Amino acid sequence: MTLLSVSDARARILAQFQPLPTESLPLADCLSRILAEDVFAIDDLPSFDNSSMDGFAVRAADTAEASSASPRRLRVVADIPAGSVSTALIAAGEAARIMTGAHMPVGADAVIPVEDTDFDNRDAGALAPERIEIFKPAAVGAYIRSRGMDIHRGEVALRAGHPLTPRALGLLATLGIAVVTIYRKPRVALFSSGDELLEVDAPLSPGKIHDSNSYMLAGLIRSAGAETLKLGAAKDNFSSVKATLDEAARLQVDLILSSAGVSVGAYDFVKAALESDGSMDFWRVNMRPGKPLAFGTYRGIPFIGLPGNPVSAFVGFEAFVREALGKLSGLGGTRRQEVRVRCAEEIRSDGRESYLHASIQEENGVWQAYLTGHQGSGNLSALANANALLIIPAGVKCVPAGQEINAWLI
Ligand code: AMP
Ligand code: MG
Repeated sequence: MTLLSVSDARARILAQFQPLPTESLPLADCLSRILAEDVFAIDDLPSFDNSSMDGFAVRAADTAEASSASPRRLRVVADIPAGSVSTALIAAGEAARIMTGAHMPVGADAVIPVEDTDFDNRDAGALAPERIEIFKPAAVGAYIRSRGMDIHRGEVALRAGHPLTPRALGLLATLGIAVVTIYRKPRVALFSSGDELLEVDAPLSPGKIHDSNSYMLAGLIRSAGAETLKLGAAKDNFSSVKATLDEAARLQVDLILSSAGVSVGAYDFVKAALESDGSMDFWRVNMRPGKPLAFGTYRGIPFIGLPGNPVSAFVGFEAFVREALGKLSGLGGTRRQEVRVRCAEEIRSDGRESYLHASIQEENGVWQAYLTGHQGSGNLSALANANALLIIPAGVKCVPAGQEINAWLI
């Protein structure tokens, strides 16, 4: 059996995944999807000069040296609510009442907020005054959002591969883009395997455990922007595993993901079932936890077999599967955010690339990392309460307290 480094295993897996075809959907259905083409601004944003305050549009020169002791008096010749355009031309000595977002009138080159005038009245329905007194001078351009200040027509607003966050959807809406071209969402068939597994609502009996991996992995798949088709738990026999694989193939998923049954145990039938209509590479990856990793295809569909131990399955997902799903979804290389943290205690390792669950917290401006509980690969409680995975590089057997290392935020 091959012994691979984490990065070699990752490269081999990623080489088998390409972005999925694209589809076009209404903007409202695009949250968290990945943009498949560059989007250009078809207009300047904002598309017209407008006021950023409720106030008065003026000629800046008319306000020079204004103060509350010696205010400048102006005649109000127009009233401009948001959504309308005034035909008034603001001449010397004149002003227009203007609302936030309203179109600047010709002739004016600054806005005085209401609070800097004697008309600090924003009650609904209040009529514009005939005259106002200005208490402060305004510079040319004050409180004007000028045309194109956010983005110019023809510039790239969002690049292909950009995740459509709520902010990005807002930008597309501002640009008037109602239908968006995105990558198809990856579909993942997920199954567990083992005669010991029970559904979450079944009472435990001797020797049995609840199937926790299917819940954890379905959550991880979703967090990676993909859809899960749950195929339950296969039994430890050839025909059960084979039937489950056939169901995955029938569903024409983009990835088949399983946990357990890929070590070298006498009851591990995943390899045989996969090879009945596909192929499987079985690797030992030089990592801890999560050493056994299966990778192959079944009827042309990529297959990744994670270890059964829950902590190992989690680390395997983060080390390999998240990025594969990112590539399918058009997002590209996506691992968890990596940060530098300082070890609060000495950490021992066995020389394999190790992923240890930890709690990191800020102390006096430094992120300190504390290991959380027992690192055994069956212990979900400590993992569930951690907020980081510390990465101990291959070849390192001891990290002294105070040393900085990389960590993934989980
Ligand atoms: P295996 O890879 O089949 O040898 O399983 C390794 C360990 O993971 C065993 O202790 C299994 O009971 C456990 N395990 C396997 N599948 C699951 C699962 N879906 N949920 C929780 N534990 C599991
Ligand atoms: Mg098993």
